[in-house]
Amino acid sequence: MSIRPIYLDCHATTAVDERVLAAMLPYFTEDFGNPSSISHIYGWEAEAAVKQTREILAAAINATPEEIVFTSGATEANNLAIKGVAEAYFKKGQHIITVATEHSAVIDPCNYLKSLGFDITILPVQKDGLVDLTELKKAFRPETILVSVMAANNEIGVLQPLAEIAEMCRDGLGSAGGDRNIIFHTDAAQAIGKIPLDVQAMKIDLMSLTAHKVYGPKGIGALYVRRRNPRVQLAPQQHGGGHERGMRSGTLYTPQIVGLGKAVEIALAEQATETQRLTQLSQSLWKQLSQVEGIHLNGHPQQRLAGNLNISVEGVDGAALLLGLQPVMAVSSGSACSSATTAPSHVLTALGHSEQLAYASVRFGIGRFNTQEEIDIVAKHAIATIESLRKPSFMGSRVGKRQSDLAPAD
Ligand SMILES: *Cc1c(COP(=O)(O)O)cnc(C)c1O
Repeated sequence: MSIRPIYLDCHATTAVDERVLAAMLPYFTEDFGNPSSISHIYGWEAEAAVKQTREILAAAINATPEEIVFTSGATEANNLAIKGVAEAYFKKGQHIITVATEHSAVIDPCNYLKSLGFDITILPVQKDGLVDLTELKKAFRPETILVSVMAANNEIGVLQPLAEIAEMCRDGLGSAGGDRNIIFHTDAAQAIGKIPLDVQAMKIDLMSLTAHKVYGPKGIGALYVRRRNPRVQLAPQQHGGGHERGMRSGTLYTPQIVGLGKAVEIALAEQATETQRLTQLSQSLWKQLSQVEGIHLNGHPQQRLAGNLNISVEGVDGAALLLGLQPVMAVSSGSACSSATTAPSHVLTALGHSEQLAYASVRFGIGRFNTQEEIDIVAKHAIATIESLRKPSFMGSRVGKRQSDLAPAD
């Protein structure tokens, strides 16, 4: 077996924790019942397991179990939230606000709604990746029905000020008139289990969750849907047997749901110590990398996920950089999210980066199974790669040149 590179792509997905897998396994075989089967013990056992995850998730975000709707992941949760609100509230208004650095699972449903005639405002971000609250306030209109801003960015790890945004949505146009209570949705796929989330204190109305970024299985997630103060209406996007109180039909995927619950439970129990450990690892990586000239940290230096480090490197070609890193580490570049295209990351360009800097970027996603030893190996190799790419003997000095000047070189 060949030695595989060190996995540092935890924003893309994570390994299922052994403890999570162990909790899931019985639900494939012995406890295989349909949680909707109410007339026998097979159904009851499955229903009890589903109920337990509902309770874990509700406790994790300070919601009630009835406010949890299981979905296939955060993509589906985002679609249900955004299209579900648009369809339920379109008579009230047809304006939605979101942000340039959102995941495509938010941007694309918004663009789809635009094609149907909705008005979409996509707010720019500041240089540090944070949404500008005065811009948000200016974007409010009497017909605004929804604001969607992510909790933690999947590329640069930036944590948006959810409570402040939510407060503004509750106030709406305030004394300027118009409707209050603009619904606030947040995509918390990267945040659950990693930062404190409280839908009451933070006044969040809809929150998308997923298991596979937090050491749970792929293909399972949830949408929190507020039931009181105010009660949020959602038009279902998948019709059928009326599961999940009619909001999302389809037989519940019990083993995955158990995995989601266990993954969140573990992450919460270990959150404080793990955050501290990951902060040390990412700071150590940054300390080593920043010894080299012309390496920039992308995103706010403090308001970020503990395990995220995203850098842009001056004077190197993005593709060559990634190629050089690949044998030692599994990381993503700025354009990895849409690997079918070679366009630079929309998140990094939203920060105001040049094409060269947006291309020549690396996202380190440090997680539960990474060690200091691995970080040291990664730092050493990254520095060596960058320095060798910058050597004048290697296709001329690239420092200070623009991407367009370099284009013919590869
Ligand atoms: C991974 C991710 C998604 C998609 O989640 P899935 O569960 O894979 O559908 C959505 N938003 C963000 C911010 C993500 O990081």
